[in-house]
Amino acid sequence: MDYDVVIIGGGPGGYVAAIRMAQLGLKTALVERDRVGGVCLNRGCIPTKALFAATELLARAKEGSDFGMEFAPPHIDLPRLISWKEGIVERLVSGVEKLLAANGVTLIKAEAEISGPGEVSLSTGAAITGERLVLGLGSAPVEIPGFSFSDPVVWSSTEALSPDAIPERLVVIGGGVIGLELATIYSRLGSRVTVLELMPEILPGLDLDRRAIARVRAGLKAMGIEIRTGAAATGYANKDDGVVVNTKEEEFPADRILLAVGRKPNSAGLEKIGIELDRRGFVVVDENLETSVPGIYAIGDLVPGPMLAHKASADGLRLAAHLAGEDYPLDYGTIPQAIFTSPELASVGMSEKRAKEEGYTPLVGRFPYAALGKALGMNAPDGFFQVVADAKTRRILGVTIVGAEASDLISEAAVAVQNGLTLEAIADSVHPHPTLPEGLKEAAENALGRAIHTVNR
Ligand code: FAD
Repeated sequence: MDYDVVIIGGGPGGYVAAIRMAQLGLKTALVERDRVGGVCLNRGCIPTKALFAATELLARAKEGSDFGMEFAPPHIDLPRLISWKEGIVERLVSGVEKLLAANGVTLIKAEAEISGPGEVSLSTGAAITGERLVLGLGSAPVEIPGFSFSDPVVWSSTEALSPDAIPERLVVIGGGVIGLELATIYSRLGSRVTVLELMPEILPGLDLDRRAIARVRAGLKAMGIEIRTGAAATGYANKDDGVVVNTKEEEFPADRILLAVGRKPNSAGLEKIGIELDRRGFVVVDENLETSVPGIYAIGDLVPGPMLAHKASADGLRLAAHLAGEDYPLDYGTIPQAIFTSPELASVGMSEKRAKEEGYTPLVGRFPYAALGKALGMNAPDGFFQVVADAKTRRILGVTIVGAEASDLISEAAVAVQNGLTLEAIADSVHPHPTLPEGLKEAAENALGRAIHTVNR
């Protein structure tokens, strides 16, 4: 065999697995048909967050008048904004390539296909063999009847991240994470944005606190984004100099349509080699991430679970440990999620509702941003921290943060939930003042009935 492990797909699942496997002494090859970093670095997490951060400046400038700072209307040089974003992507992609090389991973740039037991054929015409094969093939955006990405008017998230113009009117189909993050970015850039969501509420299918979702919805509305829930987009037609998107009841004029109704695993053809897929096309794996074909493993967006970069990487690290005969305990229930809307929403572990369903008697503590000096100084009083603990043991089961920088603030909570820490562990840890993380401490204290800066009920 040429390698101990051959990994196909260089996304945050595959490249992280490759580096760790090499660190653990396995002779590892990584095959990638495009640029390393996968969707996350090239057309997902990083470009969205770069544009989110850049456009936050526009939102902040607008707020300036609240504290006596007036700015002239901004001029947006779109090609420069996009090339700045591309620069960040390039830098990270080349960084990953260097890390792969420095760790002794062989990077092969080719399209790969499994052609036999332990054998991978490459689009270059060559073939390589590996004792074990790992699939980190990722996922792609889904189309729905009446909308096809082949029409330039219909964007997927990929086109939305490299636009040639800012559409005056953008209709976003899908009020999930990707749809709402891009709605936030385009609204800040000046587009008139309408979000059509089929389900009765935005962010469906996620275990999120209902009040937190309501805050996000209110925040988006305050920005001028129109949100229609229970609205099924059935098709669109050309009208005047744009299109109109149809639901059963209404028509929504648009210059571009962003279709963000979900992603599907890149699993086509895998059944042919005997790999079992579930009914949604995800690769079925056991507790060691091994597929139904012994010696072939799968990770990341290709397997059931949250479609998140850090989950894909965690799969990769866990698999590397397993193949090297080491232990890497991972509780998938403790994987945090961060949603980059305005306000941001981040959570880890169970919501209060889930905790009840799981048979716990939840002890809940809350603390508003409006009571944090730091938040007021940032002109960001909107939002709250919420801690859900088990009333019997006071172990923290879940945390929700909605408000400024929630995506950064959730990590302390993730450490607490993953390590089964109690309310006291957070409440009795001294947090620097004045900072936003004080809100988590106060929420834990509130659950214990002893917050200082809010009335305990
Ligand atoms: P991918 O990143 O999809 O990588 C798979 C790789 O496999 C690709 O590079 C592909 O070219 C390669 N490949 C596939 N088939 C072959 C083949 N036959 N031969 C060779 N190579 C092949 N997640 C977060 O955690 N945080 C975020 O903020 C976030 N934002 C997102 C924003 C957007 C707009 C999108 C679309 C996604 C976002 N995600 C985010 C999700 C995240 O990007 C994915 O969960 C993550 O990239 C999955 O990693 P992966 O390694 O499983 O697959």
